[in-house]
Amino acid sequence: MVTSQQALRKYGQPSESNRHMTMWDVPGFLEIGQIPKKILCNRDLVMPLSKAFQELIRTGNVNELKTWDGCFNIRKKRGQSTMSLHSWGIAIDMNAFSNCFGCHPTLSPGFVKCFTDNGFDWGGTWSKPDGMHMQLKSI
Ligand SMILES: [Zn+2]
Repeated sequence: MVTSQQALRKYGQPSESNRHMTMWDVPGFLEIGQIPKKILCNRDLVMPLSKAFQELIRTGNVNELKTWDGCFNIRKKRGQSTMSLHSWGIAIDMNAFSNCFGCHPTLSPGFVKCFTDNGFDWGGTWSKPDGMHMQLKSI
């Protein structure tokens, strides 16, 4: 699993103006349901996220995406002193309303697979589940 130390080493200090960040203009064919039109994120997130979105649409799981709860956000991990990978724009949150931190995750296996097959680790399997959370499997 990618650590905040690895992210710091690769991308440097988190900042909106960090050269690894981009405002991804999401292609029209992916602007379905709750998928945002623009996402401020790390350049390394664009391809995996694009593939995961395409897979959600292809497999008919896209309607399960009810809320988009963010990507880039400079902050510490919940309840910890280390920085969250959101600080570098390589993690996203979805359906936070029904997948709160520490709660039993509600995302379906089919939905989750669209992400885990395309370069993401899912927080829903952690000892303290973060079911809303997907982060890059490697950087
Ligand atoms: Zn998250």
